[in-house]
Amino acid sequence: MQIAAALYYERLPYALQQEHRNLFQGLDKSGDGRIGKVELLEAGYPKKSFFSFLDNDGNGLLDFEECKSLFFLTKNKAGVCDGCGEPLLESYYGCVECHAFDICANCYGARNKLHPVHPHSNFVKRRPMTSSVMKNS
Ligand SMILES: [Zn+2]
Ligand SMILES: [Zn+2]
Repeated sequence: MQIAAALYYERLPYALQQEHRNLFQGLDKSGDGRIGKVELLEAGYPKKSFFSFLDNDGNGLLDFEECKSLFFLTKNKAGVCDGCGEPLLESYYGCVECHAFDICANCYGARNKLHPVHPHSNFVKRRPMTSSVMKNS
C-alpha cells in the first residue's frame, strides 16, 4: 500500500505534487511537519481506524510519506466504507440506486440499517480502483 502510494506520487506531474504538499501543509495546523489524529478528523477525514491504517509506524502522527497513502486513496476515489469508515481496499458493495453509498463486506449484512433511504436489494459488488492501479505499478 505504502509502496503503491509512493510510486503513484512519484509519477504525478509536478503541479499535482505541489497540490498535495499544499494540502498537507493545510492539514498540518501546528506546522511541525506532522499531522495528528485530531487535525485529520477536524479536516473532515473519517473515521475510527482510518488513521491507524495510514499511521504506518504507529507513532500517532502522519508524516508526509504516510500521507501519500491518503492522497492516493482520495485521488483514486477509493473512498471509505460508509458504514464503518474503513478504507475500501478489498471488494466492496455499492448501492445501485443512488451511486453514493459504498460499504465494505463486513457491513454488507447491515446494509438496510446503514442506508435506509431506499429499500435495497440492488447492491453491486465492486473492486476498488486501487487494485488495478497497484497492479500496474
Ligand atoms: Zn464497513
Ligand atoms: Zn442508495
